[in-house]
Amino acid sequence: PAVASVGVLTDQLVAGLLADPGSGDDKYSGGVVGIVAGSAQYPGAAVLAVGGAVRLRPGMVRYAGPQAAAVVQAWPEVVGADDPSRAGRVQAWVVGPGAGTDTAARDRLVTVLAADGPVLVDADGLTLLAAEPALLEGRRGPLVLTPHEGEFARLFPDLDLTDRLGAARAAAASTGAVILLKGHRTVIAAPDGRAYVNTTGSSWLATAGSGDVLAGVMGSLLATGIDPLLAAAAGAHLHGRAGERAAHDRAAGAHQLWDRLR
Ligand code: AMP
Ligand code: MG
Repeated sequence: PAVASVGVLTDQLVAGLLADPGSGDDKYSGGVVGIVAGSAQYPGAAVLAVGGAVRLRPGMVRYAGPQAAAVVQAWPEVVGADDPSRAGRVQAWVVGPGAGTDTAARDRLVTVLAADGPVLVDADGLTLLAAEPALLEGRRGPLVLTPHEGEFARLFPDLDLTDRLGAARAAAASTGAVILLKGHRTVIAAPDGRAYVNTTGSSWLATAGSGDVLAGVMGSLLATGIDPLLAAAAGAHLHGRAGERAAHDRAAGAHQLWDRLR
């Protein structure tokens, strides 16, 4: 087949995806995103991922995991629950940042993967999938996997990362998922061959917690119902712009990336 072209997003196109609410909107039509992140070992990942989601101003952010108290202290508008099965009306899920790999974390991943709407799996969620690929067997709805190169290599040991775009496309084709492969010039590929290369960002994004914020941003975009490939690419674009802004203020770590969004 002919080699499909690669898309590049612009600020204008991404801004057009972030519609202001209209008079007929309510918090449900504004998009409900559910976040499963954080653990006793990594409580901050919950706050970071939720923060990325909140700053995109969806209708509602629900948190489902063991760090609800910390999350609600940082983000009072968030509705917390212990378990994703208790979080109603979620239109898109993010699962994995700092979530751990124990039985409770695996149970939450299984619950979320049974949802009909889009599910984004990152970080520890990817570790669980690499160890147990059968977890994806029953998956029907849209799926987005967001590995950095180390996570990608564990998930797809046979794919050659010297060609990042080719590797992401092959991974997308074999899993049926949108694959966002992180790093300098993040690449985003869909199972049908469409792909984007992200051109925004700064090497200051190479800091602990930055990927957790990105996961939340993409979750809010997925909850708007747009095409998952576009949601992932637009999330990377916005996160990169936030990173460029944060780079001018060396005091800002991942925990303030959300101040630079939009
Ligand atoms: P994570 O590895 O999950 O913490 O995610 C790191 C984030 O920082 C991703 O959005 C990467 O694309 C971004 N990133 C990492 N290294 C670089 C780099 N050298 N230049 C630009 N962005 C980077
Ligand atoms: Mg990460």
